[in-house]
Amino acid sequence: MSERQTVILPGATLGVLGGGQLGRMFVHAAQAMGYFTAVLDEDATSPAGLVSHHHIRTGYEDPQGLAELAKVCAAVTTEFENVPAAALDTLARSLPVSPAGSAVAIAQDRAREKAHFVQCGVPVAPHAVIETAAQLAAVSADTGAAPDRPKQASAPSGGSEPHAVGSVGASLLPGILKTARMGYDGKGQVRVTTPAELAAAWDQLGRVPCVLEKMLPLAHECSVIVARGRDGTVVHLPVQRNLHRDGILAVTEVYEGNLPAAQLHQALAAAKSVADGLNYVGVLCVEFFVLQDGTLAVNEIAPRPHNSGHYSQNACDVSQFELQVRCMTGLPLVQPRLHSPAIMLNLLGDLWFQGGGDATTPPWDQVLALPGCHLHLYGKVEAKPGRKMGHLNITGATPEAVRATALKAAAILGIAPF
Ligand code: ATP
Ligand code: MG
Repeated sequence: MSERQTVILPGATLGVLGGGQLGRMFVHAAQAMGYFTAVLDEDATSPAGLVSHHHIRTGYEDPQGLAELAKVCAAVTTEFENVPAAALDTLARSLPVSPAGSAVAIAQDRAREKAHFVQCGVPVAPHAVIETAAQLAAVSADTGAAPDRPKQASAPSGGSEPHAVGSVGASLLPGILKTARMGYDGKGQVRVTTPAELAAAWDQLGRVPCVLEKMLPLAHECSVIVARGRDGTVVHLPVQRNLHRDGILAVTEVYEGNLPAAQLHQALAAAKSVADGLNYVGVLCVEFFVLQDGTLAVNEIAPRPHNSGHYSQNACDVSQFELQVRCMTGLPLVQPRLHSPAIMLNLLGDLWFQGGGDATTPPWDQVLALPGCHLHLYGKVEAKPGRKMGHLNITGATPEAVRATALKAAAILGIAPF
């Protein structure tokens, strides 16, 4: 018991479930601090497996793979949101695992996630869970009957609309039907405007459990990365302002004044409540919608570092990946400081196909001729449209200078201006 609370110092081996880019950047951060690393991912060419001291090439549920990971590691974390929570629970019997399987299980399921937000008293989009034909029929039959913005009796004071709802009705249309599980980058989502489209969409998604969310008039989106230690200490990165294109994060902007002060405070307070409510240990990203009237609604959480926190690698004195290392080892959590305004541009596989035809390497040399550009590529073997291949962090003396450089880099790479 007390052994588990001991700080795990550099020299030990840290494990991560999943070998994607988030795992790779975790491995880089852990190694920079003098830890050895182990990655569990069956893909021989996984971005993290390629750079780790140990690469255990099995599936997440393979008992031998998990046993080997537990044997070589002093602590384990995850980079993959959909890792089976049971795998985390299995590992937790023999070594410290963060975040806990119970928290990851909630983040994996939109319906449970929304219920958690409501329980924490943070505002969410009006929504309804659709798991059965009867629930679908109830949503469809309720045409026009429900008020536009139903409120819950337990709605938090000081919170802003829209409040969480358990009610159903055509007030949720137009809406987005989202699979409760396994969605990412806008996959597993269908936009619907009529009850007939809703029924067709549920068929299209295979009649799996879903959440129907009201389509909200977004002004923009923002997110907060918090890190919560074993002792309940919470630190956070500055609030990120995010632009999504086609359901995928495209641009993150972080500097003083990127969002009105009231929104920053509300987002930080909500992120902290969500993390505290989960008794969370680790790095957690809380994503928000900012509505046109300035109110916030929590969209979803990711139980790990997040794409919108990548700017911290070059613009903060502690990156989100170092925070992940500190959380899982019990090292102290110090409040990160933004030392430069920053913009992050996501580099999707589409950039390799600007000329049509075969994949061509983008002109990184031209981009790196611009001051303050930091290139991060994930070592993925093949570029594909929509695939996250890397990101570009741009830092500079002022938000205006960073923005000017980011727009030049975007123009060179063929990324639409923002
Ligand atoms: P991620 O890769 O972030 O996990 P995801 O597949 O889980 O993505 P969401 O975050 O639910 O998807 O939605 C993707 C994007 O679609 C959002 O960032 C937002 O731009 C848009 N979107 C989703 N839900 C709504 C909504 N209710 N109203 C308006 N826009 C929405
Ligand atoms: Mg999202």
